[in-house]
Amino acid sequence: MSYLKEKILKDGVVLDGNVLKVDSFLNHQIDPVVLKEISNEFIEYFKDKEITKVMTIEASGIAPAILVASHLNIPMLFAKKTEPSTLSNEDQFSTNVHSYTKNKTSRVLVSKQYLTPDDKVLIIDDFLANGEAALGLIDLVEQAKAEVVGVGICVEKSFQPGRAKIEDKGVDIFSICRIASLENNKITFVEDEH
Ligand code: 5GP
Repeated sequence: MSYLKEKILKDGVVLDGNVLKVDSFLNHQIDPVVLKEISNEFIEYFKDKEITKVMTIEASGIAPAILVASHLNIPMLFAKKTEPSTLSNEDQFSTNVHSYTKNKTSRVLVSKQYLTPDDKVLIIDDFLANGEAALGLIDLVEQAKAEVVGVGICVEKSFQPGRAKIEDKGVDIFSICRIASLENNKITFVEDEH
């Protein structure tokens, strides 16, 4: 069993609304062993994709994304949820993302300067639920006429529709671990179902 799965079973807390709290090792305090394992798996899976940029959304995607970018020695770009006073509307790509955990829609943006048509972008995020964050990032890459080479997810909640929405767009998706159910406070992984 992967270290990430072990940590989820040992320290993950199931909250109301099918939310898994992983603040002790991924979302608040960060365990470097978990992060290294995650980034090694992403690199192994996406190594032939000639990636030029790793992209995520602030804040919790930044840690895994920077580790992957650092391995590949390429830049990491994160979509911002607050508008910097230094960036005018004409100089940014923006899109709306509805947050599953916060039940709030926010406009996220990146500077046009950092996303260009020759980019091959690997999108990384901590969780995949309804796919809003990943689809928002795909939208930003498409606005820039750049290419999405794949989506890498640390924890996929496979009982929610995110994966299907990404696959429908023809984008390759790889998740380090896939949760089949959080029902009755019990964490079941997809591979353990049979
Ligand atoms: P989606 O956009 O796919 O609906 O949700 C993905 C985003 O919501 C992630 O970036 C993550 O921050 C947050 N999220 C969704 N589900 C969970 C969850 O069960 N636990 C945690 N910690 N974050 C979640």
